[in-house]
Amino acid sequence: MKILLASSEVYPFSKTGGLADMVGSLGVALVNAGQEARIVTPLYRGLRDKFPRMTRVNWKFDLPMGERHVQADLWELDLDSGLKIYFVDQPDYFDRAGIYQEGQFSYADNAERFIFFSKCVVNLARYLAWRPDIVHLHDWQVGLVPALIQHQRDSAGWGKPPPTCLTIHNLAYQGTFPAAVYALTNLPKLFFHTEGAEYFGMLNCLKAGIAFADVITTVSPRYAREITTEELGCGLDGVLRRRRAHLVGILNGVDYQEWNPAKDPHLPAPFSLSKLAGKKKNKAALQTFVALPVAENIPLYGTISRLAEQKGVDIQLAALAEMLNADIQFILLGSGSAEYELGYRELARRFPGKIAVQFGYNESLAHQIEAGCDFFLMPSRFEPCGLNQMYSLRYGTIPIVRATGGLDDSVIDYGEQTDKANGIKFYEYTSRALAKAIRKSLAIYHQPELIRQYRRNAMRADFSWGKTVDEYLEAYRTVMQ
Ligand code: ADP
Repeated sequence: MKILLASSEVYPFSKTGGLADMVGSLGVALVNAGQEARIVTPLYRGLRDKFPRMTRVNWKFDLPMGERHVQADLWELDLDSGLKIYFVDQPDYFDRAGIYQEGQFSYADNAERFIFFSKCVVNLARYLAWRPDIVHLHDWQVGLVPALIQHQRDSAGWGKPPPTCLTIHNLAYQGTFPAAVYALTNLPKLFFHTEGAEYFGMLNCLKAGIAFADVITTVSPRYAREITTEELGCGLDGVLRRRRAHLVGILNGVDYQEWNPAKDPHLPAPFSLSKLAGKKKNKAALQTFVALPVAENIPLYGTISRLAEQKGVDIQLAALAEMLNADIQFILLGSGSAEYELGYRELARRFPGKIAVQFGYNESLAHQIEAGCDFFLMPSRFEPCGLNQMYSLRYGTIPIVRATGGLDDSVIDYGEQTDKANGIKFYEYTSRALAKAIRKSLAIYHQPELIRQYRRNAMRADFSWGKTVDEYLEAYRTVMQ
């Protein structure tokens, strides 16, 4: 099957969150499963220098954007895995310091940038000699592609376009813009209605995708159910309920090439289920690195997160303020809201020697935290899939999660299956419930045989892409021919 994936971020070329990880590894996994997958993404600043094997394709985009025409070039890179990546080269839109924003400010022309990118995706799907059997879109940035394809089928002589699959990675980000922006799509008014791209008088790119894609997936079974409810539907629960028959939840896989404690180049000491001694060394090295007292028997908790409301920062700050009175250590790696950063800085001042905070994005430190901690905290308000809890499991770091979305689907609590328990879940979104879960973890930590059993169960949990890929192929097949 020929599959064209389109995403505004793809690891290892660009990344702001789980979307990049997922698209990068889904592409490789599809190729490993014997499929022909290619990915199209924007050419952001610095990529040509970083990947000098990239070559220019003999291709010119010249596409209408409202009254104007905008041109772009195309580059390609063949990865060792056999995956081909196309890069849309439009320097005015993409040669910038950030992907979506600089500092705290989103680019004012994000609608224009990603409408243009969406048009490039359609152009490739239509005119590449390599004709995709399906176009798989990711998130709002390419949400308009199904409508654009449908329009070309109905009015511009595209005989038999490929079907489309839209994956929602996070319903909270919808790409909503003033109605005037709709002119840039060059679509007729008939797509701009309450069952289509229109949302309370605005253009909503994700809603357009939900309305017009042939099949919709999201990144965990539980999140697929949650987004059809008023509570977690972010205003789109109505349209999602209408399309429920075409909506499936597929838990993301993990790239165990990147996240393998036995062969992780970021770690001072490799370890595995049969050689757990290395984990202790990672803990000591991490404590040294972040200037916490090196103590083998003090439980070390970690969090790696965007500092956003979704991630439960408010209840985490309050629960830590209570729990740091106990003999524990905590390390945070995060970036995002200045207000939340301040919250952590204050906590660090109150509990010197017990908490370390690192702001910014640091891939290597993220691996070291997964390896060196005993427990990983993820108290999300909602969580479509979440990757860090799955990385934690593989690194024998017991996840403490709120039972929502993919966190609920990937972690097993003692209350669910005693002998398979690999993490701790709490249900209420309150700091009290989180503090209680941390107390439980202390009880587990101080029973060496029990924590060993949790670790064993955790490290055996398998979220490899093999299984996941079959579920995507199944979803594609439901809409082909
Ligand atoms: P989301 O996509 O909502 O941010 P996920 O858990 O799905 O959450 O994915 C987050 C990804 O981003 C993980 O790979 C995580 O390790 C990484 N990440 C988040 N914040 C940081 C940071 N400050 N430094 C390094 N990696 C980070």
